[in-house]
Amino acid sequence: MPDDTYAIELAPPDIASYRDGNTGIPYVTTFESGRPGPHVMVNAVTHGNELCGAIAVDFLFRNGARPTRGALTLSFANAAAFASFDRERPNASRFIDEDFNRLWDNATLDGPRDSAELRRARELRPAVERADFLLDLHSMQHATAPLMLAGLLDKSLDLAKRVGVPEYIVRDAGHAAGRRMRDYGGFGDPASPKAALLVECGQHWEKRSEEVALATTLRFLAALDILDPAFLARHPVDIGPPQRVITVTEAVTIATDDFHFAADYRGLEVIPKKGTLLGQDGGREIRTPYDDCVLIMPSRRLKRGQTAVRLGRFTG
Ligand SMILES: [Zn+2]
Repeated sequence: MPDDTYAIELAPPDIASYRDGNTGIPYVTTFESGRPGPHVMVNAVTHGNELCGAIAVDFLFRNGARPTRGALTLSFANAAAFASFDRERPNASRFIDEDFNRLWDNATLDGPRDSAELRRARELRPAVERADFLLDLHSMQHATAPLMLAGLLDKSLDLAKRVGVPEYIVRDAGHAAGRRMRDYGGFGDPASPKAALLVECGQHWEKRSEEVALATTLRFLAALDILDPAFLARHPVDIGPPQRVITVTEAVTIATDDFHFAADYRGLEVIPKKGTLLGQDGGREIRTPYDDCVLIMPSRRLKRGQTAVRLGRFTG
C-alpha cells in the first residue's frame, strides 16, 4: 500500500526545545506540584509517524499545564524516529530499527539484544516506572473512529470510563510480537493501583486526530484531578455519545509471508455471520469465530509475526 492514500493535514511540531527536559532523560520533563498526589505521565510518539500526540503534548507545554497535586511528566518516547518524519514517506518514521511498543517486558529490557528502540526504552524505563497513571497517545493507519485501548484489567476500564472519551473502549491483550508500554510493570498487574491507557486518535495524518488527542489528554488529566480547574475551563472538551466497550477475544497473528484480507477492511466493521471469510494466511482461512464479530485495526503491514487484525464483540 502506498503512503499517500490519506492526505497529510497535520504538521509535526518542533520538539527540539524539549530535548533537555529536567529529569536527566532526554525528552522527558516532570513538573512537581510539591503536594501529595499521583504521578501522571502523558506520552507521545511511541511511534514516530504519529503526529497527534506530539501536538497534544506540545500544547500542554506551550499553555503552561502544571499539576496542582502529585506530578505531571510529559514525554516524547521515540523522538529520534519522530525527527526523521518525511512528508514524502510519512510511514517510514514509525521506528528506526523496530517497533518501540513491542519491547516492554523485563526479559527484553534486561536482555542482551540491542536496537535504537531498545536503547531508548531502557533510557525511558525509569520514567515509566515512576508513573502511577499513563496516557500513551497514538494514531492509526485507517480513518476510523478513535479507540481507547484499555487492556484487559478492570482498573483500566474504570479509568477509560472516567476519562469519558472517546466513544469506543477496546479491551485487549496486545500483540504476540511483544508487550506494549501500556501493559508494562504495575500497569499490567491487577494487584497494583497503577493504570495505563493507550488512545488511537484517528488516522495518522487527519486533522481530527489532533483534536481527539488533545480532548482525550485534557479529560485524562481532569479524571485524575491534577490540573487547575481554571486551565480545564479554558479548554473545554465535548464529551460526545455514551461510551461503548468492545472486548477483543483474539488477535490474528500472521504466520506466513502470504497473508491477504478478503476485503478492504478499515476497522470497526461488524460482520454479522459466524464463519465469514476474513482473509487467507498461506493455506489457512481466517473466519469470524462468532456472529456480530467486530474488526479492530486491520493492518496494512501484513508481515509474518505481526498482528493482522483483532477480533472482538460489543460487551457494554
Ligand atoms: Zn501507534
